[in-house]
Amino acid sequence: MKTYRIRPLLLTKMEIDLGILLYRYRYGEKFMSPAYSWYIEGSDQHILVDTSTDAELATEYRGFPAEKVMSFEEALAGLGLKPDDIDLVIQTHLHWDHCANTAKCTNAKVLVNETELHFAFSPHPLTGLSYRKDLLKDLNFVLIDGYHEVAPGIEIIPAPGHSPGTQAVAINTDKGKAIITGFCCVKENFYPPEELKKLMPIITPGTHTDTLAAYESTLRIKGLADILIPVHDPSFADVTSIP
Ligand SMILES: [Zn+2]
Repeated sequence: MKTYRIRPLLLTKMEIDLGILLYRYRYGEKFMSPAYSWYIEGSDQHILVDTSTDAELATEYRGFPAEKVMSFEEALAGLGLKPDDIDLVIQTHLHWDHCANTAKCTNAKVLVNETELHFAFSPHPLTGLSYRKDLLKDLNFVLIDGYHEVAPGIEIIPAPGHSPGTQAVAINTDKGKAIITGFCCVKENFYPPEELKKLMPIITPGTHTDTLAAYESTLRIKGLADILIPVHDPSFADVTSIP
């Protein structure tokens, strides 16, 4: 079976409350949340999973104190690539901090869940500032509905709950199946501390449109992955390649 490597590209860290990631746990604690784009290496196509955001947008748009690590262009240049070289962007979901650079990939198809796209253009008021239609204009969307094989060893797994059409990305590697969770979380969502573990095997993502679905998706992805990649975990900041 074909295998790949995942190259985390950290563009910015933004200050949020941990409760945004950990439902009913560690509220009131500040956290510098990393916003990554992920390059899948080893395909004949140039594939990104999400495109992160810049620090400027995080601060201007949401008022989050943010620390720039590098620009999208600088991150791709580190791999010898330009935004125009990207053939495919897989969107785990369409919250602004996951798609802010997608429009720069002018030659890319943008793979997204159909329900997610419709929701992004007419979001429920409850999701407030999570979606920005201006970031989605003129993208070359390819809509999917459910499980989808992108290429041998790269699969989309529905993981709804964080948003209506959140999807995880499973990637075959030499060390087993790596899964980019899609929903916004950290390692602690999958490995709760002792005092909670007796009650619940995972902590539900703190941001969700369907709490129970978000719980089920988290539990399911934990069971499927050999290598878990929670999309806002700080542990990938200095990692150049997974595995
Ligand atoms: Zn996020």
